[in-house]
Amino acid sequence: MKQTILLYVIIVCLLSACNQQDEHKTTNIAASDSTFVKLTYLGTAGWEITDGKTVILIDPYLSRIRRSYSENSIDSTFPGDIRTSIGPNDFVISDTASINNYIKKADYILVHHSHRDHIMDVPYIAFKTGATVVGTESTANFMGAYGIPEEKIITVKGGEDYDFGTFSLKVMQSLHSPLFEKRHYDSRIFSRDKKAPLRITDFVEGGSLAFLIRFKGHEILTSGSMNYIEKELEGLHPDVAIVGAAASRSEIYDYAGRLMRVLNYPAIVLPTHWDDFTLPFTSSQQEKLKELGVFQKEITNASPKTKVIIPKYFEPIILPLRKQIPDVSSN
Ligand SMILES: [Zn+2]
Repeated sequence: MKQTILLYVIIVCLLSACNQQDEHKTTNIAASDSTFVKLTYLGTAGWEITDGKTVILIDPYLSRIRRSYSENSIDSTFPGDIRTSIGPNDFVISDTASINNYIKKADYILVHHSHRDHIMDVPYIAFKTGATVVGTESTANFMGAYGIPEEKIITVKGGEDYDFGTFSLKVMQSLHSPLFEKRHYDSRIFSRDKKAPLRITDFVEGGSLAFLIRFKGHEILTSGSMNYIEKELEGLHPDVAIVGAAASRSEIYDYAGRLMRVLNYPAIVLPTHWDDFTLPFTSSQQEKLKELGVFQKEITNASPKTKVIIPKYFEPIILPLRKQIPDVSSN
């Protein structure tokens, strides 16, 4: 028992030490020893998962456009934000400078659903990197609207379990965040006939997915929303769970408890979709970080041995070998 605790302490130290290293150094470690898997938060619900060779992106959205919900009002709370605000009928344009700065390579892009904060930058990234995009029919049609060739799109609906050689991918149906006090419901599918450029109002959810990525001995569960279908997750035992952590989770009954139990108490939880994604990367997320403290407590109460790591933008988190991560499922 003592040995287990000691090992856990060492691994936690290792994880936080890795967090503090600069990207350059950690990239070299990952490249030279591909037994490591590295996860990097890209803001919003976006992640890069790599072993230094294969690069998987999840909902990469780096444009963080400044939204205006009517012709006259601007919702940005960042006073120094001088970017043009985008209204409901404006065309959306990806921030290619930001994407080029942070995204160098991708082999696969997994999309949870086709709202703009998940999918808007995917066509540009797919063109730039030649990555294959995996997502719903709406996601596939959206890629078609931007001229992504069919051989670069894999359409899924949940239930698939695909082998990609270096990793495998189990696709599960999921639910979108219960926005508007549980009244978000959208059964529309992004039309096959639409062509870019697209306006804010063109984006539809198109159904929601969850993914289980089995990669170098790890099992990483990803979600892009503040909800899940418990039955879809039964029998999984991920060591890492990327969990939606924004405020709308409070609409869900026992959000953290049901999730931790059905996932067999993952060793590591990484909160996602918790930041204000209308603000630039440089602005403070202090308020959201404070709220994140509450999420962290909810997870810890539900699964005391789970380590919750608060990700920082573009700071890689390196997972130790899974066999070195203590099994905390005996909560
Ligand atoms: Zn959404």
